[in-house]
Amino acid sequence: MGTNLNEAVADLVTANHILFDQGVVDAFGHISVRHPEKPGCFLLSRAMAPSHVSAADIVEHDENGEPIDANGRAVYLERFIHAEIYRSRSDVTSVVHSHSPAVIPFGISSVALRPAFHMASFLDKVSRFEIRDGFGSETDLLIRDSEKGRYLAQALGAASVALMRGHGSVAVGRDIREAVYRAIYTEVNARIQTQAVVLGGVLEYLTSEEAAAATQSNASQTGRCWALWSEEARAKRAK
Ligand code: MN
Repeated sequence: MGTNLNEAVADLVTANHILFDQGVVDAFGHISVRHPEKPGCFLLSRAMAPSHVSAADIVEHDENGEPIDANGRAVYLERFIHAEIYRSRSDVTSVVHSHSPAVIPFGISSVALRPAFHMASFLDKVSRFEIRDGFGSETDLLIRDSEKGRYLAQALGAASVALMRGHGSVAVGRDIREAVYRAIYTEVNARIQTQAVVLGGVLEYLTSEEAAAATQSNASQTGRCWALWSEEARAKRAK
C-alpha cells in the first residue's frame, strides 16, 4: 500500500471510532473516503459496528459501489449511498451516513433544520430526501441499489447534509475531517434547535450571510475538532 492509502485507511478507522464515541453512529451507520489514488473508487468498512472497525476491515469499493477486494467479507447494504454521491459530487471526498438520533425528528417534521449556532453554519441549506417520491410507499426505506443511491444524490444536490425521512441523514465533506465535523455538529445542532423550540418564543437562526461568514471561519477549525475527538475516542478505547 502507498503512503497516501495507508494514511487514508488509518484516518477512516479513526473516523469510525470518533463517530461512535460522539453518538452519531451506533451498531449502524458508516463513513467512507474517496480512494486517494483511484478517484472513482472509495474506501468503506466491511459490514460491522463502526466502533470495532480496524484497518483489516476496510474494503475498496468501485464507482458502482461493488467491493473490489472483499475476500469473503460482507459489505454494507447501503454502500450505494457513497458510490452515487461520489459520482455526482466531485467536490466531496468523504461521506457519512447515520441514524443520528436527534436529527431524525427533523426528517419527519415540517420544521426545517436550521443553523442554531455558528458551528453548524453549514446547515444553511439542508436537503430533504423522500424515498416515496421515487419508489412508492412500500420500501423498507433503505438505499439498496444504485437507482435509490442516485435519487438520494440528486436530492442532496449541492448541500452538505440531506435528511432521509424516517431513516437518517447523510453529511458530506471536502475531506474526512470536514465530513466528521459536519455529521457531529448536525447532531449537536438538532439537539440545540429542539431545546430552543421547547423553550419557545421567537427563534432567531443564523442569516445566510452570517452562515456564509461562519462557514469561512470554521473551515480552518476542523483539524482542532479532529484532534480532540480522536484523542477522546482513543482514551476510552484504552480503558
Ligand atoms: Mn441507514
